[in-house]
Amino acid sequence: MKETRKGMLLVISGPSGAGKGTLVAKLLDQDPSFAFSVSVTTRKKRENEIEDLHYHFISEEEYDKLLEDDAFIEHATVHGHRYGTLKSEVYARMEKGQNVLLDIDPQGARAIMEKEKDCVSVFILPPSYHELKVRLHTRNTENEEEIARRLRNAKGEIDQMGRYRYLIVNENLELAFDQLMAVVRAEKQNSIRYYPVIGE
Ligand code: 5GP
Repeated sequence: MKETRKGMLLVISGPSGAGKGTLVAKLLDQDPSFAFSVSVTTRKKRENEIEDLHYHFISEEEYDKLLEDDAFIEHATVHGHRYGTLKSEVYARMEKGQNVLLDIDPQGARAIMEKEKDCVSVFILPPSYHELKVRLHTRNTENEEEIARRLRNAKGEIDQMGRYRYLIVNENLELAFDQLMAVVRAEKQNSIRYYPVIGE
């Protein structure tokens, strides 16, 4: 049987500490049909991050130049830093039928949903605000000021969840990952992007 597939644009958002990064890493590890769209950011690199794998870490001047060159599909200021999705990370891959995963905030997700109507949007929730706070402190990647800022922003982000096609509460990582993969499996069979040609 012959089949062709159009690339899926999977947009994942969720507040810092919801476990989105872990779910994204697991999906990329287990499903080679997905490529991660590496964003640019003006935020400082964390110790555990790898340049050009997690982000392209750039200066404010470089960011301004990309804006001027119209290089972004969307861009936003999140927790006081600038982030942007590059056209070059997304469109060429999708045209080749590859699936592309974006890990972006609700402002960026909203812009993508308006431009790319067929995108698959998923919002990851923590089981509670208390748990979010505990996780942000336990992962120990931000200082107190940055943690406080991310917690302050969480409510506004969670208020946007109704815009997304799918919601997943990450109380138990295995269960949340199963739910994410169920969405991915179903959306791969969606007739907007899957064209099987059956035999005579
Ligand atoms: P972090 O600094 O923890 O890596 O990311 C902070 C927030 O920025 C997360 O919600 C993440 O999804 C979001 N983010 C990362 N890259 C982009 C991007 O290219 N565009 C937008 N709008 N948000 C992004």
